[in-house]
Amino acid sequence: MRQVIFAANWKMHIAPAEVRSFAAAFLAQNAPSEGRTLWFFPSTVSIEAATTAFGGRPDIRIGAQDVHWEPKGAFTGATSIPLAQGAGATGALVGHSERRHVFGETDEETGRKVRAILATGLTAMLCVGEKLAERESGQTEAVCLRQLRAGLSGVGQDQWEKIVIAYEPVWAIGTGKNASPGDAATVHSAIRAELGRLGATGRRPVLYGGSVNQANIGQLLAEPEINGVLVGGASLDPVGWARIVAAG
Ligand code: PEP
Repeated sequence: MRQVIFAANWKMHIAPAEVRSFAAAFLAQNAPSEGRTLWFFPSTVSIEAATTAFGGRPDIRIGAQDVHWEPKGAFTGATSIPLAQGAGATGALVGHSERRHVFGETDEETGRKVRAILATGLTAMLCVGEKLAERESGQTEAVCLRQLRAGLSGVGQDQWEKIVIAYEPVWAIGTGKNASPGDAATVHSAIRAELGRLGATGRRPVLYGGSVNQANIGQLLAEPEINGVLVGGASLDPVGWARIVAAG
């Protein structure tokens, strides 16, 4: 059976006090379905509330939006993997374009984070994607594969099952523009080929992210190369998000 992942990136939205009503509204519209996994990536302060609110559903996972590679120490403002895990996270995003291009996270740092997440036994959802100028100058695959190699260097043979990739073209995030399913599929195929060269075991999920909404979810998921979606803005409304999940 086809496996599909729906991941919601809440960014700096949905406070702990709002998570309960979000979950109640969402869960009223959404029943578990075989072959489908849902991830929610709340702000760090809302991880525990989300873990509690969605706790009874085995198909729902909670993750952190970012983590530090060190397990503890003097890193003001950062969240360690054990702290996120203690709040209920079973995974984390790594290398989201806002981390890379707003906060200056390097390829090398994404690799350190992925290795630390895997060493703790959590799932790492590694985001890769090109900027508009890189796409226009024909560098899409080169950029994505470079980010992939750096992010996944040192992944152990038995750790691949905890890896999810999200292809998120930077120019499509929060802009209302999205890659066509065909364009996304071309990049997904290149990512899949590189995963093979890196020694990945099994068929790793490759998600698409960038202005996914109720109107385009059907076409995107009709493309067999797209194994799910990572969604920002359209995941903030519980009923709208339930509709996207149902449409998928
Ligand atoms: C994201 O934040 O990962 C994202 C894809 O955002 P949006 O869906 O709003 O483009």
